[in-house]
Amino acid sequence: MNPRLMRNSFIYLLIIVAVLAIFFTLFSNPLGGSSEIPISEVVNMAARGDVELIEVSRDSLTIFATSGETFTSRKEEGSSMVKILKKAGIDPLASDVQIQVKGSGGLGSLFGILINFLPLIFFGAILLFMMRQAQGSSNQTFSFGRSRAKMFVGNGPSVSFSDVAGVQEAKEELQEVVEFLKFPERFLSLGAKIPKGVLLVGPPGTGKTLLSRAVAGEAGVPFFSISGSEFVEMFVGVGAARVRDLFDQAKRNAPCIVFVDEIDAVGRHRGAGLGGGHDEREQTLNQILVEMDGFDVNVNVIVLAATNRPDILDPALLRPGRFDRRVVLDNPDIKGRTEILNVHSKGKPLAEDVSLERVARQTVGFSGADLANLVNEAAILAARRNKTIITPDEFAESIDRVIAGPERKSRVVSEREKEITAYHEAGHALVGFLLPDADPVAKISIISRGAMGGYTRFSPEEDRNLVSKKQLEAQLAVALGGRTAEELIFNEITTGASNDLDQATHIARNMVTRLGMSKKLGPRTFGKREELVFLGRDLHEQRDYSDQIAEEIDDEVHALIGAAHKIATEQLTANRDKLDKIAKYLLEYETIEEDQIEEVFGPRPPQANGAAPSSDD
Ligand code: ADP
Ligand code: MG
Ligand code: ZN
Repeated sequence: MNPRLMRNSFIYLLIIVAVLAIFFTLFSNPLGGSSEIPISEVVNMAARGDVELIEVSRDSLTIFATSGETFTSRKEEGSSMVKILKKAGIDPLASDVQIQVKGSGGLGSLFGILINFLPLIFFGAILLFMMRQAQGSSNQTFSFGRSRAKMFVGNGPSVSFSDVAGVQEAKEELQEVVEFLKFPERFLSLGAKIPKGVLLVGPPGTGKTLLSRAVAGEAGVPFFSISGSEFVEMFVGVGAARVRDLFDQAKRNAPCIVFVDEIDAVGRHRGAGLGGGHDEREQTLNQILVEMDGFDVNVNVIVLAATNRPDILDPALLRPGRFDRRVVLDNPDIKGRTEILNVHSKGKPLAEDVSLERVARQTVGFSGADLANLVNEAAILAARRNKTIITPDEFAESIDRVIAGPERKSRVVSEREKEITAYHEAGHALVGFLLPDADPVAKISIISRGAMGGYTRFSPEEDRNLVSKKQLEAQLAVALGGRTAEELIFNEITTGASNDLDQATHIARNMVTRLGMSKKLGPRTFGKREELVFLGRDLHEQRDYSDQIAEEIDDEVHALIGAAHKIATEQLTANRDKLDKIAKYLLEYETIEEDQIEEVFGPRPPQANGAAPSSDD
């Protein structure tokens, strides 16, 4: 029954009872049929011995005669029946007359009370009803200050550390947090303070949210999850109220974990914002700080927070006693990727010849979320192809899909366009193949995907955190290789290379302004980057150099690109036969996989990539 209906029927019931009660009192004679006699007659009857029992109920009397008849009568208010009889010379104790006094606790009188109070109850009920109705409509307003945190308790779908792969250090660090939650006495008895806040830092999709849920799962404690943006609403002050409510809830459920996802939404450097709403954010942040300071050492609430922008967080958030522990998650290396692929292909039937290591090797730079997506795509593809197991084909196709989007088979490509694309991609690949500092070629394809006509994929060497100047110069040459091939073969320039040029310019400009790789301008950076709040995610570069320097920067960028173009032209001209061979192969088969490269390209010249750091020449 819905609550509204229930409330209505309650009211109806009340009305019916009221009407019945009124009806009763008006028309019912307490004891129908008995005749009323004066009190003197009663005394006379008692004297004659005709009375067996007198029932006294306040002033009304019911007389049961020995003859079996009953009479009613009334006495004066306050007078006692016993005294009246005594005055008439009848000793009630000695005679046969029994006197029974009915108290006010009888059913009849209870009924009377009910009738007296019924209107009151009735109106009370109506009042209550109306008040509840009024509150119902304003409920939403009142609950604004409530936190929207979702609570996950033990028996929910729990995540454990074994579901998170390839982030060994982070897991070890968080294992400690689990211990804190499980056995706080152990630490408190040594006088150690339980950490209050742990900040998970890492690029999107590296498993921050997953890992914090795993901590809750491992410790078997409630887990309150809220996103930073959920604190902020249209109304000022709501964020702070929500923080208060969230922490109240948490303290009631201690030990527990409070997880604030995307904390940068509220934890931004205070006072750094322009435009509206930053006051509100500041208050919310302040409230978080106040709450975290307010914890007793004994209150076992640990706040986990995740962000991919630790650089913009307010320093107050990071000081000891708040988020003083930092767990850094990074995109996984080849071992991590293999493990993550393993975790996500559990329960999926893989063909014998699927090598997850091979897939991992081809997916440099993929995040955990990308890999999860990749395995899922492969399974979907296999299902669509009516296969019962997932084969290497599906994995290869899904890698391309995740990187470049789905194939566009329906796109009509003229023969000439196809030829240009083949030479363009062959140009990229061949330059990469020939330059010792470039990454090895992993795959070439002239099947159009997404917005691209074709693409060439390189597989960077593993574990390369430092990139040398030579490697960047090689990257520049490779980026220009496509366009250079078009120039050489067709002696014209198409629009197909605009993306490459963007990329090349970006690399060259970074080399000069951010990496100090220009000899002329020296080892310094140019321009201050800052994020402007009102521009959303746009980066704005503030110039901190003169117009003359600006010109020099342009010249240097120009020179770098010019040099790269020269290298590409030299390499392709000298290896024109190879270029033709690759392009022909592509026109015939459309793709060249990693293991066919040697066959088509011939042996690779001696490699030097990743070996020596750049000597600045
Ligand atoms: P983040 O919060 O860092 O942006 P998530 O934790 O939401 O990323 O990860 C999204 C999804 O990616 C997870 O649900 C999981 O399926 C997958 N994933 C990410 N990292 C890992 C990992 N290290 N191990 C296993 N799965 C992962
Ligand atoms: Mg997340
Ligand atoms: Zn290109």
